[in-house]
Amino acid sequence: MEVKIVPTTCPYCGTGCGLNLVVRDGKVVSVAPWQRHPVNEGKLCPKGRYAHEFIHRDDRLTKPLIKKDGKFVEATWDEAYELITKKFSSYQPEEMACLASARVPNEENYLMQKFARTVLKTPHVDHCARLCHASTVAGLAVSFGSGAMTNNILDIAESKCIFVLGSNTFEQHPLIGRSIIRARQKGAKVIVFDPRFTPTAKHSDLYASFFSGTDVAILNAMMQYIIKNGWENKEFIDKRTKDFDKLNAVVMKPEYSLENVSMISGIPVKDLATAAEWFAKSPSSCLLYSMGITQHTTGVDNVKSVANLLMLTGNLGKVGGGVNALRGQNNVQGACDMGCLPNVYSGYQKVTDEPAIKKMQECWCCDVAGGKIGYTVTEMMNVLTENPPKLKAMYIMGENPMISDPDLAHAEHALKNLDFLVVQDIFLTETAQLADVVLPAACYAEKDGTQTNTERRVQRFRKAVEPPGEAKADWEIFCDLGKRMGYEKLFSFNSPEEIFNEIARVTPSYGGMSYKRLEKPEALHWPCPAADHPGTPILHTQKFATADGLGIFSPIEFKPPAEVPDAEYPFILTTGRCLWHWHTGSMTRRSPSLEKEAPTGWIEINSDDAKALGIKNDEIVLAKTRRGEVKVPAKVTAEIKKNVMFMPFHFAECAANVLTNNALDPIAKIPEFKACAVRIEKI
Ligand code: SF4
Repeated sequence: MEVKIVPTTCPYCGTGCGLNLVVRDGKVVSVAPWQRHPVNEGKLCPKGRYAHEFIHRDDRLTKPLIKKDGKFVEATWDEAYELITKKFSSYQPEEMACLASARVPNEENYLMQKFARTVLKTPHVDHCARLCHASTVAGLAVSFGSGAMTNNILDIAESKCIFVLGSNTFEQHPLIGRSIIRARQKGAKVIVFDPRFTPTAKHSDLYASFFSGTDVAILNAMMQYIIKNGWENKEFIDKRTKDFDKLNAVVMKPEYSLENVSMISGIPVKDLATAAEWFAKSPSSCLLYSMGITQHTTGVDNVKSVANLLMLTGNLGKVGGGVNALRGQNNVQGACDMGCLPNVYSGYQKVTDEPAIKKMQECWCCDVAGGKIGYTVTEMMNVLTENPPKLKAMYIMGENPMISDPDLAHAEHALKNLDFLVVQDIFLTETAQLADVVLPAACYAEKDGTQTNTERRVQRFRKAVEPPGEAKADWEIFCDLGKRMGYEKLFSFNSPEEIFNEIARVTPSYGGMSYKRLEKPEALHWPCPAADHPGTPILHTQKFATADGLGIFSPIEFKPPAEVPDAEYPFILTTGRCLWHWHTGSMTRRSPSLEKEAPTGWIEINSDDAKALGIKNDEIVLAKTRRGEVKVPAKVTAEIKKNVMFMPFHFAECAANVLTNNALDPIAKIPEFKACAVRIEKI
């Protein structure tokens, strides 16, 4: 019996915990703690603890599948590649789109956007960051010149005041929750504003519930109160920022008084005042947010307002401060860094910048798609429902829009309008079932690579076992297809390390990294521009990444969500995740230990609302919005704000996204998952 231990990185959330895969006779049989890993120090949440359970499932994809007469039949790789090559060669470049994946390593994301921009020559490449943190990338880029988490996970423990707004950290990033506990043990004050009394709220010193979608009003009121009391950091504002006058002109308006915003948000005046005072007067304060801030039609405005509060109080570029935007999936930061966005190449080099286009052409030795910004995920779905559809073919790697997209009837209509759909995944997901060709991929334990966690830490995935059947690593599939479609030289990689070396050559923020340097468990935070650079755990210590080095205040007015409750749909519906499952459930719902804990979805209803509706706990109810309806068990609880309801979105059988609204932020094009109008009917 051969036993080996392979240290690697958790495939689930953006915390990026280190874990050890225990391999016996070629199978991963368990996960053991990695004591030396700096982020999690041997601790894992349940998802990480059971991250081996889906790997050797019988329903893993093991052969390519081609749909014939509406049914999948097994095919050889040669047959699948031949069909894909023939079909992709028959379309105009702009008729094709690619969706990369926040679940796969940097190397594979880099290759997918390279494949899109060189082989297909299409500008349409994006991924699910569009559905979670596109607002962060766009908003923080305006305020600070860089759209990433400013500080790091361990630094949160050094803060003296932690404001959690729009993040259920203890369930979504459980190991980051440890930093909050450590800070509190050292005397930090913790403020949590959330429509639900979450496990995170239970670890707070000040909690208030509020109506989803009122974040800008809340932040403006806090800033007005801080300025009125003279608690703003004048030295920081003078030396490190500009446009304070513009901010001041907006936040000092009467509509942002504590009293008025208390009525808009539902937060008591005294709690708004206390939060503002603690945040402004503590020696260091940071703000943690996640999708509660970003998934709104005002997502970019919300992010800029967060940046405003941090600049106003001088809490950037220092230990214990920072805008800590907690990224969702394990490699959503990396997929963005690798250029899987329609407006940038890797390292956020703009596709509309002539020097960047020239650089990529020289590096890749061919014409590349450039000069034009492609469609976002949400725009792809929208143009697919036009008549005639503007897109004809799509190539999706490791994403499942048939569970993750807003308004699933709309998403299904869009994908069924495609002439040709290729899906590359490890299971036959709800989206793969709609494909013309399905390509079997290797999972995280079956390949090497790197991933970049929420704090910009680039670290290694390590291969522990062989993929099942004929499944291949995504990078091998792109190399096969690229060569077959005439780009032999561009796709002649023999290992992920060779791909990473090319990434480092063309991506300034990764320029000083190599597999050798990433061997250490602490790895490296970008930017790391040179081989002797130590990496950058805290951004903006001397100056911001804007053209003149100054942070930019943005005056932001409050706007309500696109859809608000009315007589027909009288409640606010908000959606999110639970501790036991991950996103569309394709991996966690196939992990028995996790599925046992949460075998189906639910809708949380406030006890008073449930009483008025005559609904009991566990009763199956009909949740209806203007997009659709689902039958779902009711969870009656006092821990959610009256008039607000919550559903986790992991469950296909009661899919929350049947109900959600496809209204988009005008800049980030992120949908408003966090607020729409719903009604509940007894069945
Ligand atoms: Fe994995 Fe996130 Fe849990 Fe860590 S906190 S074990 S990265 S799911």
